[in-house]
Amino acid sequence: MAGIYIHIPFCKQACHYCNFYFSTSLGNKEKFVQALLKEIELSKDYLEGEKIETIYFGGGTPSLLSKNEIEAIVEKLAAYHDLSSLKEFTFETNPDDLSKERIKEFEALKPLGLNRFSIGVQSFFDEDLKYMNRAHNAEEALSSIKRVQDAGFDKITIDLIYGTPTMNDENWLKNLQTTFELNIPHISSYALTVEAKTTLDNRIKKGQSLPVNEEQAARQFKILQHEMKKAGYEQYEISNFAKPGKYAVHNSNYWSGKKYLGLGPSAHSYNGAARRWNVANNVSYIQAIGMGTIPFEEEILTAAQIVNEKIMTSIRTQWGLRISDFEFRIEELILGSLKTIDPSHYILEEDVLTLTDEGKLFADAIAATLFI
Ligand code: SF4
Repeated sequence: MAGIYIHIPFCKQACHYCNFYFSTSLGNKEKFVQALLKEIELSKDYLEGEKIETIYFGGGTPSLLSKNEIEAIVEKLAAYHDLSSLKEFTFETNPDDLSKERIKEFEALKPLGLNRFSIGVQSFFDEDLKYMNRAHNAEEALSSIKRVQDAGFDKITIDLIYGTPTMNDENWLKNLQTTFELNIPHISSYALTVEAKTTLDNRIKKGQSLPVNEEQAARQFKILQHEMKKAGYEQYEISNFAKPGKYAVHNSNYWSGKKYLGLGPSAHSYNGAARRWNVANNVSYIQAIGMGTIPFEEEILTAAQIVNEKIMTSIRTQWGLRISDFEFRIEELILGSLKTIDPSHYILEEDVLTLTDEGKLFADAIAATLFI
């Protein structure tokens, strides 16, 4: 079983914190869709005939595609891949793209397998949305979720951002409360990070935006963990929370090392032995595909990289890292490194290493210590 990720590299408006690849100029959208259809043909053998379990339209903003464009892409996928075992088909959307008319179009895509929405809410407060330069407002965030639910889509995940300087702890609690009242089964929640060279980075340096405070982010992460647990969600991955059994199949497959094919500019693919990533430029992508080549760079993973990736992804999940899965020599190395880590940050039970709630705050540093 494998997954397919499709990167739609267009956005209506640039969020100040974003460092994904996208363009706000939609002039190339039609040419891009034609190139994407061609890339599906060119990459048909990458997954070596594996059945497709998940499809994920991400971006950028996939909801900028028309219904006809989405249909054409899925039909092309069906022509080159076996979709008979498709379990989850997720579409990323922004609240401002979920009008009544648009939802009707999405309902018509159910026969193609579309069964899950990921909605980029980020906050239910206008002040935070303005700080981030999101294209939607708080009212649209609420009404879009209700419309998706009314259309019978029960698999919904929303993104929420904490650590925004405009959001105090009280409003963070209200954001979580609103989520619970809406009965949303899955939440992805990330701290606002200031990546180098983003608009937010520049604005903070120029004093045009409030700076981000790490203590606030750590405190709000703890509030998130506490409230989610109280409301019956499992923190099945550090940034992902689900009602029991409502895990995201596509992302879970990334974390468990299953193969996936990424299509579109900047999309990454993994076939068990190598990773490759497409050029992050719409014009170069369209030109190369037009000449019959997929423009990507590739890295063949070494045995150490494969071990380290397993460490990195597994300790972030509630299922943890089974150390005895590795050969004895590696097991010994990991157990040796573990002795240097604060014992209040992890639990080692029957060979399975998981992080405590406190340890989850230091997941990256812990993984780096365990790397071989
Ligand atoms: S909508 Fe998403 S991809 Fe587009 S700019 Fe905002 S955060 Fe980035």
